[in-house]
Amino acid sequence: VVVLGHVDHGKTTLLDAIRKTDVVKGESGGITQHIGAYQIEFKDKKITFIDTPGHEAFSQMRSRGAKVADIAILVIAAEEGIKPQTKEVISYIKELKIPTIVAINKIDKPSANLEKVLSELAAEGITVESRGGEVLSVNVAAINGQGVDDILEAILLITEMEELKDNSAEAASGVIIEAHLDPRRGPIASLLVREGTLKKGDIIVSGNSYGKAKNLEDSNSKIVTEATSSMPVVMLGLNKVPLVGERFEVVSSEEIAVNKVESFVLPVTEKEVVEEPEEETVVEEDDSLVDEVEPQPAEPKREIKTLNLVLKADVQGSLEAIQEILDKIKQENVKINIIKSEVGDISEFDIKLAFSTKATILGFGVKSSDFIFNLAKREKVRLKIFSIIYELAEEVKKGMLGLLDPELKRVDLGELEIIEIFRKEKSKMIIGGKVLSGKMENKTVVDVIRPGRGKAEEEEEKIGKGKITHLQHNKKDVPEVEKGKEAGILLEGPPVAEKGDILRAYKEEKNQREL
Ligand code: GDP
Repeated sequence: VVVLGHVDHGKTTLLDAIRKTDVVKGESGGITQHIGAYQIEFKDKKITFIDTPGHEAFSQMRSRGAKVADIAILVIAAEEGIKPQTKEVISYIKELKIPTIVAINKIDKPSANLEKVLSELAAEGITVESRGGEVLSVNVAAINGQGVDDILEAILLITEMEELKDNSAEAASGVIIEAHLDPRRGPIASLLVREGTLKKGDIIVSGNSYGKAKNLEDSNSKIVTEATSSMPVVMLGLNKVPLVGERFEVVSSEEIAVNKVESFVLPVTEKEVVEEPEEETVVEEDDSLVDEVEPQPAEPKREIKTLNLVLKADVQGSLEAIQEILDKIKQENVKINIIKSEVGDISEFDIKLAFSTKATILGFGVKSSDFIFNLAKREKVRLKIFSIIYELAEEVKKGMLGLLDPELKRVDLGELEIIEIFRKEKSKMIIGGKVLSGKMENKTVVDVIRPGRGKAEEEEEKIGKGKITHLQHNKKDVPEVEKGKEAGILLEGPPVAEKGDILRAYKEEKNQREL
């Protein structure tokens, strides 16, 4: 079952309320893990819910054709009625022909207006039972659990009416609902078995990845040996991270699996997300032309960095406004690369996408749960939500600047003439000298300069480099010695300096580059 509807109408609250009724408990009492779906038991029947409203796997249904849910719950807030996203969902549901239950939520609110909602629904071609239609409608207040059982009843009723059962003894097939790369355990995928029974040891193929089901775990982190139909299960053993929303199937041999992987064509919508290496074009050299081609002066190699972004906004209009303002940012040294730009709340999938593409997630006018924030933190994904576009743009600029290596600017401190060499060792020397200009500072770097003896100054030669690790004046350690004074120096570095050489001290300051 998938829960859909306009933002803020209470989808998450409803999913939480349902989860609280009776999450199927693991015998080991394991901790419930987030695997993209959860199962509850109601009247001895198990019902599986996709646990994120508008889950990526579900939104991929259209492009991938892999059926994720059998039933949809359309949540409509009673005090708001039908909103743009509600309409979108309705057309989607109609297109996919998914049996739907209307959940009119927030009926606890004084401003709830059931009649208005029902009329608006009728205008969209959805006539509920109480008005002589066929669509089941339930009044709920997700916030206090009121009506949740009615929803579950309605689900069971639909399963009966639609005869939603799995009779196949066939090899399992289903949909990938979550997938990520675990640094230790390799690709991990949550699978929703749609038909048949997935058994440990089965060979499965999904899109461009395949492997043997090594380890199966249910949503309570309990090891299981099989997953029957409609059961969500976490699996290890794939050779690659599969695509969310992609179908999977069990095949009878590895050979068949490999064949299927090889003939898999990436759906167009994923192209921007999954980077396929471009085929190299081999240009054959034609000797007759070579002579005529002028040698091109080598361009100074300048590395252009890229700031990858995942943008999520409340409405399409915001995305357009953001795009417009980003287009205006100068992109000479750092390019902005938008991996994904989409209306909707920040999802787990967004975090995974950002993780795998090293992108920053920027939200505008969207919500995000603690779960998402914590996940982002755990995966070290940068996630920020804004309510002012200008601030979002500033953040982008900051991110771009952060990618630029600061320019190192040399700041000269002063010069010292070496009057005496007290000691020379393998990689250090003790020197006495007089500061000619500026000052000498402890812990700074010096160039050892050999003056052009009696010749022009430009013929001086840099013969080495070292670091002042001890600086003294009158045999006392000091942080600096000024012009005209004498200094004792412990210089670390190759002991190349001689009497008469100049030590030129300098610092390197980081200079933030500009875009
Ligand atoms: P979603 O964006 O559709 O997932 O909406 P949420 O579940 O996050 O709910 C949006 C807001 O509506 C939250 O502040 C909820 O506490 C509130 N809310 C959800 N269900 C109800 C309800 O039945 N009654 C009332 N009064 N508030 C609700």
